[in-house]
Amino acid sequence: MIDKRPDGRKFEEMRKIEGKVGIVKRADGSAMFKIGDTVAIAAVHGPRVLHPRFLQDPQKGVLRCNYDMATFSVSDRKKPGPSRRSTEISLVTEKSLLPVLDLSMYPSSVIDVFIEITQANAGTRCAGIVAASMALAHAGIPMKDLVSAISVGKVGGRVVVDLDKEEEDLESFGGPTDIPIAYTPKNGEFTLLQLDGNITKEEFIEALKLGRESCKQIQKEQERALKEVYKEKGK
Ligand code: UDP
Repeated sequence: MIDKRPDGRKFEEMRKIEGKVGIVKRADGSAMFKIGDTVAIAAVHGPRVLHPRFLQDPQKGVLRCNYDMATFSVSDRKKPGPSRRSTEISLVTEKSLLPVLDLSMYPSSVIDVFIEITQANAGTRCAGIVAASMALAHAGIPMKDLVSAISVGKVGGRVVVDLDKEEEDLESFGGPTDIPIAYTPKNGEFTLLQLDGNITKEEFIEALKLGRESCKQIQKEQERALKEVYKEKGK
């Protein structure tokens, strides 16, 4: 087993986080979330009437998420445009956010969420969900809770929080295990849980426990960033 992580962090320690709200002027709501070198920007457009009309649901609104990694976000230029990976991440992002929204308030409408990863060093889907959740709140859409997200897992035989790219690439001790989770701290629900790799039941429970604690810290930062905007408005 390894006794320290490549970047010197403690096993249960996530990278430095920072949130900022209101960074895309023309969007109805927007936010940035940074975790280490991973940076996600989210912009919300809507709710507005959904066109073409055959896509409308007269009972409730539709949430559409679009995740994209910028070509310049990684050192090996990323091929532009959608991919199977981005389609999957867009879909799981929607599923992570839906439980906190009441779309029956917006019949025949759409809420579009665009997520752009401008810097990627692992954990981008989680950073995107955190930014999107803040952007939805900034757009004034009523939410039951803010969704927080982090990747947990196993590196070098140890249960860890927030794997970076170097750790995701470590092949020793059976390779890494990556478990991105999204969590709503107020009602204690997991809204995303994916798993890539191997883990025992005990380690899995331990990883989720650590992830929950990190999500609580992330939610504090989300709230701080949102309050910042209203402080400025009040001036
Ligand atoms: N990555 C990359 N090029 C790609 C896709 C991913 O360099 O086309 C890197 C990027 O740093 C990303 C990491 O691989 O954060 C891990 O990607 P994964 O699919 O596991 O999703 P993530 O951890 O970002 O949610």
